[in-house]
Amino acid sequence: MTIQTHITAANHSPIRLIIHGGAGTISRSRLTPEREQAYRQVLEQSLIAGHAVLKAGGSSVDAVIAAIVVLEDSPLFNAGKGAVFSHAGRNELDASIMEGATLMAGAVAAVTTIRNPIRAAHAVMTKSALVMLMGSGAEAFAAEQGLEIVAPSYFHTEFRWNQLQKAIAKNRVLLDHDSDYDPPPSRNDEKRGTVGAVALDRYGNLAAGTSTGGLTNKRYGRVGDSPIIGAGTYADNRSVAVSATGTGEMFIRAAAAFNTAAQVRLLHTPIAEAADNTLAEIAAIGGDGGLIVLDAKGNYAMRFNTKGMYRGTIGSDGIAQVSIFPEVETPSSDPSASMS
Ligand code: ASP
Repeated sequence: MTIQTHITAANHSPIRLIIHGGAGTISRSRLTPEREQAYRQVLEQSLIAGHAVLKAGGSSVDAVIAAIVVLEDSPLFNAGKGAVFSHAGRNELDASIMEGATLMAGAVAAVTTIRNPIRAAHAVMTKSALVMLMGSGAEAFAAEQGLEIVAPSYFHTEFRWNQLQKAIAKNRVLLDHDSDYDPPPSRNDEKRGTVGAVALDRYGNLAAGTSTGGLTNKRYGRVGDSPIIGAGTYADNRSVAVSATGTGEMFIRAAAAFNTAAQVRLLHTPIAEAADNTLAEIAAIGGDGGLIVLDAKGNYAMRFNTKGMYRGTIGSDGIAQVSIFPEVETPSSDPSASMS
């Protein structure tokens, strides 16, 4: 079933933007009304920023960047400012972006001085013949491209620093917010704040992007799925745009984003079913998380096998719909009703 009802104009695709701010165990009892409101507000700002680009005739790639920059700049999410700390006490950031029309892609990994890693991923995609740069080389490239470079301390937040101290004390490597709670949460009692966006512009082109700080207390240059094309991010106009969040190692092993797109393109699997199949494969190898998926007709799905996922969508009508918990909050934000 398709619930797409808004067609902007003849020959114009319906515009659509979907975002996520991480999936995990997000329980109402632990999310204070003030904090929930703060998350909702930033998610809405992100949707509005991306929508403004699409509405003005901008590209899906630019809409994805606009939406993700808002989330990177917010200390609430595990991306950009607010990213978690590595064992070495650094914020090591990963991001990727992909354009569905051309299959062009760009990514950066383990960068510590680029204010908006998603912009650096975009620069790699558009200003080089390469796909992925890491560490100081990526930072030098970003500086050459005129991107904003900040002192590593820009990314420091007290909340994340305390998380690292707890993780070190317990000798644990933690997904985002894993150490928020006292007593310590169980494996399933966690939430994550990686961010991502998928967009469809009026020209019918898809794009996807993802940005993260990875895991608290990560060591040895650990990099997860978020900057890996085909794992955390994928976009192909012939099928779908996908951004993932979850247990990165399993998302890499399941080639999560490409896996989902391939099912749609080759097997013609409905998009929500494709996402669920991928999440089931991930669950079978011990992982969990969520996927946002959007096709070139504007059909979309926001699927997760955790207790909640920060997420939202906005279409041609410009009404931002934000959800956190699984329950239906408005008819058109119902994940199970908003797919083909
Ligand atoms: N997938 C991210 C990683 O493994 C973490 C997350 O989604 O929160 O780095």
